[in-house]
Amino acid sequence: MLPDSLRRLMQLLGRFPGVGEKTAQRYVLYLVSEQSGLAEALGAELATLRDRLRTCERCGNLAEVDTAGAAVCAVCRDSRRDATLLCVVGKVQDLFAVERSGAMRGRYFVLGQLLSPLDGVGPDELPLPALKARIAADGVKEVILATPPSVDGEATALLLARELGVLGVSISRIASGIPHGGDLEFSDQVTLGRAIAGRRALDVSR
Ligand SMILES: [Zn+2]
Repeated sequence: MLPDSLRRLMQLLGRFPGVGEKTAQRYVLYLVSEQSGLAEALGAELATLRDRLRTCERCGNLAEVDTAGAAVCAVCRDSRRDATLLCVVGKVQDLFAVERSGAMRGRYFVLGQLLSPLDGVGPDELPLPALKARIAADGVKEVILATPPSVDGEATALLLARELGVLGVSISRIASGIPHGGDLEFSDQVTLGRAIAGRRALDVSR
């Protein structure tokens, strides 16, 4: 009973995580009823979004492309950040979560994926060469492994501890407090802040 154009828009919105058919319909009806130009503003932003945003060439965070065509994120550009402290996360959403906690004064490295043998993601699929190059280039002294406390997250942390331990940097793991299998993205700021502040040094000599 809905006009085709609304149905198409509903199907697109329904592809967002957590948006079901009813919510998609509410959004669509709001967009067409609304007078403040939300549909036009949204359309203009979306049309150029992919051209303006890229992953940061240093850390994998999201970054705006500058006039020279380079993409370096706000965290990497911020000279007040401690470049010798590097927090390794699995995905961009986790970087945002750690930032929200306010407990991280260093910089980041986003892996993009976690070690997951069952899904065919082995050590070679992780950006280890780029991570090691980053550690060397920035003179990193401490690496905080902030992968989630899940099976894949723990396996990834273990692999990184072994691989990076030989570089002479100190390596720490975020403390418990986040339930096992939990997602950093959905952890509250206080819990995540405590997990980072209470990180434990890993003994990689064994
Ligand atoms: Zn960056």
